[in-house]
Amino acid sequence: MARSEPIHILYVEDDPGLARLVQKKLQRAGYVVDIASDGEQGVAKFEADSYDLMFVDQNLPVYDGLEVIRILGSKGILPPTIMITGTGDEKVAVEAMKLGAGDYIVKDVGAGYLELLPSAIEKMLRQHRVIEEKQQAEKALRKSEEGFRKLFEQSNDAIFIHQTGRIIDVNQRACEMLGYSKEQFLTMDIADLYPQEGFTESSKKIKTSQGLNSIESILFETLFKKADGTVVAVEISSGIIDFEKKIIQGIARDITERKRTEAELQKAKEEAETANRAKTEFLASMSHEIRTPMNAIIGMADLLMETQLTPEQQQYVQVFQSAGENLLTIINDIIDISKVEAGHVQLETIDFDLTDIIEKICDVMAVRAHEKGLELVYSAMPDVPTDLLGDPTRLRQILVNLIGNSIKFTEKGQVFIQVESHGTKNGNIELLFSITDTGIGIAPEQIDTIFDAFTQADSSVTRKYGGTGLGLAISKQLVELMGGHMMVESKPGQGSTFSFTAPFAIQTEPKGYIEKIALDMKGVKVLVVDDNETNRMILRNTLSKLGAIITESDSGEHGLAEFKRAMETADPYQLALIDHRMPGMDGFELAKHIKETMGNIKNTAVMMLTSDNRSGDRVLCKEFDITFYLVKPVKKAELLVAIATIMGRKIEPVVGKIPEARSVDLTKIRSLNILLVEDSADNRLIIQAYFKRASDHIDIAENGAVAVEKFKAGKYDLVLMDVQMPIMDGYTATREIRKWEQEQGRKETPIIALTAHAMKEDVQKSLDAGCTDHLTKPIKRTTLMEAVQKYTGAKSNK
Ligand code: ADP
Repeated sequence: MARSEPIHILYVEDDPGLARLVQKKLQRAGYVVDIASDGEQGVAKFEADSYDLMFVDQNLPVYDGLEVIRILGSKGILPPTIMITGTGDEKVAVEAMKLGAGDYIVKDVGAGYLELLPSAIEKMLRQHRVIEEKQQAEKALRKSEEGFRKLFEQSNDAIFIHQTGRIIDVNQRACEMLGYSKEQFLTMDIADLYPQEGFTESSKKIKTSQGLNSIESILFETLFKKADGTVVAVEISSGIIDFEKKIIQGIARDITERKRTEAELQKAKEEAETANRAKTEFLASMSHEIRTPMNAIIGMADLLMETQLTPEQQQYVQVFQSAGENLLTIINDIIDISKVEAGHVQLETIDFDLTDIIEKICDVMAVRAHEKGLELVYSAMPDVPTDLLGDPTRLRQILVNLIGNSIKFTEKGQVFIQVESHGTKNGNIELLFSITDTGIGIAPEQIDTIFDAFTQADSSVTRKYGGTGLGLAISKQLVELMGGHMMVESKPGQGSTFSFTAPFAIQTEPKGYIEKIALDMKGVKVLVVDDNETNRMILRNTLSKLGAIITESDSGEHGLAEFKRAMETADPYQLALIDHRMPGMDGFELAKHIKETMGNIKNTAVMMLTSDNRSGDRVLCKEFDITFYLVKPVKKAELLVAIATIMGRKIEPVVGKIPEARSVDLTKIRSLNILLVEDSADNRLIIQAYFKRASDHIDIAENGAVAVEKFKAGKYDLVLMDVQMPIMDGYTATREIRKWEQEQGRKETPIIALTAHAMKEDVQKSLDAGCTDHLTKPIKRTTLMEAVQKYTGAKSNK
């Protein structure tokens, strides 16, 4: 290390000649050298000045060399010192080293003593520097250790250091947290801190280093036992300090506060859930409360309608009926929205036929549309698959709602329903449904809120059209539950388009219509002529599933060539499906050529598929022997019915029909012994009236307990069981009856539960209790009679 300042040396020597000689020599080597001629002077020099190095002769006046070293040493100001001794005086040298001298030189001028001095100085200074550095490092280490100790002591977390399980150090916080003194800790094992219930797998691991490897550290929550016997919740982070010696450090944080917050949050969550449940239960029971009197109203209105009424009275009763139906819709909406909001709606995933669903909805909705003079148009793009997997009930609910709104809010024009394929999403097909109307539209400032529950665009509009403002909220939530989203575009005065996307899986083994229609085309040779690849694909898929053998041609020219070839090889086509609009030779031209080719042997049925319904086409069809023509997009069912008809088999179309009003032949029901269990006198009256024309005998029980007694005493063909009753409810009564029947070895009597609960779970509840079936109030006469027939008819047929 280069020093900027010269090195100061004190040379204590009583021989002035030698002293000067040495001084000169060392000065020449760059040192600054002072001389002291005796021991006392030497000590005094140190009091006035400081030196980097001292040479001291042993034999000096006043104090000898050893004395000088001793004095300076005792004052703590001894510099790096080299003792100069006479020949053979090693004892003195050893003594000097003991007192703190760093080295010694034997004063033997003849042996080149002077020459040795510079290297002795260098060696001495080097040595000194090493010592000094070491001291400094030790000092720094001490300082850092103090720092760590401070950290250790002042940490807000309790720190434990343990070796093979035995506690060897703890900080102040550990003492405060657990109430032991440090001395007590040092007699304990870390395991002593764990109460039985807090001794987890993790805490076992850190008891010793076994199980922890040298780099692993673990974090876990546990309990610590305090000196007073209570426990404290802690989070421990533990790691190895010395793997060999099995020294482990554990830092314990008091998490009492955190645990309390967590518990409070959990409690709040539970409370919220309870409140939510209470809300749902409230809605369910409210709907029950409303349904019960509704039962009386609707039932009585139905009965009244069957009596002799003046036209005016009939009108009044109709108002009754429709008001009742409206009220029921509202109740159902309320139950629906509360179920959706409470997360109680679970979607089904079942096979369904999209075309079937939409066509049926259109059939029903068309009645309402036509009443208002509106056109209801449905179109599905050809690439929309129809054999889907999903929840048809919910899809129907959404569509009915949107189409219903469009009809409701449109005075003239049309409601147009369209389904398009919107790409694929996670292996499912995404469909885009849109319902466009030419109605009153929605003002831009209202468009954002119409999807909120109980919100309507305009209260004056509502007064005119009625409604609860729940339909769109339910629909939107259902769409989102399905994984799609709902959109609306509207121009006031011009109309609105409500659209939504929804993903569906495609059935792997579609059943669809084809099975329902049961058309067998096994081995039937069909020629499909269409320039549109997608159309050909649809026809191919549909018909080949039924066993038909399909040949495709993409133009009139190719189609004709193929047709001729088949005729010539005496293997003609039984059916030709021809597209009207094709470039080059169009459908009618092709049909004309076919007619000519066939001549008199008319063994091929020709069917034309057109996109427009021009009246002239009909005439052309007749002229070219075209037995059937269909307007695209062709409904699958229509196509199959047409083919069946052409091929000489008449089959009934199963789609596109409004379900017939159900009627029941009352004469078929034999005289029955019925036990009616019902606490409400109104409802008893209605049910009794329903049976008025049949020769049945009805016994009444006002509650479950009476019912069980009567059941045991009498002999009944059927029990109609209300569910909510005082004293004993219907579920309990049913269970008791079933138990008794079993004990008696009797066959189960049909028990039909009559409840005001419309929820799915309630149906299950009745069935679980042992009921044979479940009817929801208000109960219509036909529904009840159907059920009665179903469960007693079997007996009477015997
Ligand atoms: P509501 O039972 O009142 O019809 P909805 O939630 O179905 O409840 O609709 C909310 C409101 O949105 C309606 O009251 C109406 O103002 C507006 N709306 C819905 N559909 C249409 C539509 N096709 N044309 C115009 N306004 C509509």
